[in-house]
Amino acid sequence: MPAFDQGTGDLIAFIVRRMACDHCGESYHDHDVKVTQDDGIQRTLTATCPVCGQAQQITAYDQPPYYQLHPAVRVNVTPITEAEVAAWRRFLTSFHGDMWDLLAAVTG
Ligand SMILES: [Zn+2]
Repeated sequence: MPAFDQGTGDLIAFIVRRMACDHCGESYHDHDVKVTQDDGIQRTLTATCPVCGQAQQITAYDQPPYYQLHPAVRVNVTPITEAEVAAWRRFLTSFHGDMWDLLAAVTG
């Protein structure tokens, strides 16, 4: 079994048990959920509703019990510029606080 297949059945079973179509609320069956990407850090799965056909992407970042399972969110893949790095350096040089303070400062 390839490394990326390890735990796939458990993850699909978890999605079938815990998630439903976000369009009509119908439950998924095992064959409705497919792994579409696995880079060893995260897995992206597509669940296709057996009733309305709506597809939902789900991303798992961890192992069972999947505390970090979310519908996939598009990530801005624009490369970081030198100006952004310099701005963050200035910000972090004067920042005092913990991770919660940092997140509050960044997200407003
Ligand atoms: Zn549906």
